[in-house]
Amino acid sequence: MNNKIIIPNSDAMMALGGKIADQFPNGGIVLLNGDLGAGKTTLVRGLLRHLGYEGIVKSPTYTLVEPYLIENTPENSYKSSKKGGGGYKKRTIYHFDLYRLADPEELEYIGGRDYWNSNALCLIEWPEKAQGYLPEADLEITIHHQDESRIIEIQKDSISI
Ligand code: ADP
Ligand code: MG
Repeated sequence: MNNKIIIPNSDAMMALGGKIADQFPNGGIVLLNGDLGAGKTTLVRGLLRHLGYEGIVKSPTYTLVEPYLIENTPENSYKSSKKGGGGYKKRTIYHFDLYRLADPEELEYIGGRDYWNSNALCLIEWPEKAQGYLPEADLEITIHHQDESRIIEIQKDSISI
């Protein structure tokens, strides 16, 4: 396991997001640790761009979660289903920002469990705010600042990035 990855600029962070999208064609739980401005949302933006989503991507700071339904076209379907599978599968991505979560139990009110159990890809910023209320992660990383570059530390991976 390559435990540390150097990310020299935000384009590289976006590219890492794309790689993660490819590694989780059937959904999963990805925890993104790191301070404000670390690049968590930049990674999610890159992931969504890679899947063909062209709209605005920002941290859902007040709404806690933002759903994205990616309508796959023949052009990008290979990105969602590793073996092609013939069909143009839709993908749902849930982007969480739990920074303002006052109490982890709030997750129950917004139906957290339904998100985890939905076979979507869940990308979760500030997972520490919901410690004990999140399912087991398939990938957990921490982004460390260092001027413009970032160091990604991999805490847990069930895939290789
Ligand atoms: P977070 O969601 O962790 O609070 P954002 O992704 O919203 O952080 O913001 C990160 C900011 O840092 C963006 O403005 C981005 O362009 C900038 N940035 C500079 N260098 C990098 C890098 N190497 N990786 C990611 N973002 C970077
Ligand atoms: Mg963010």
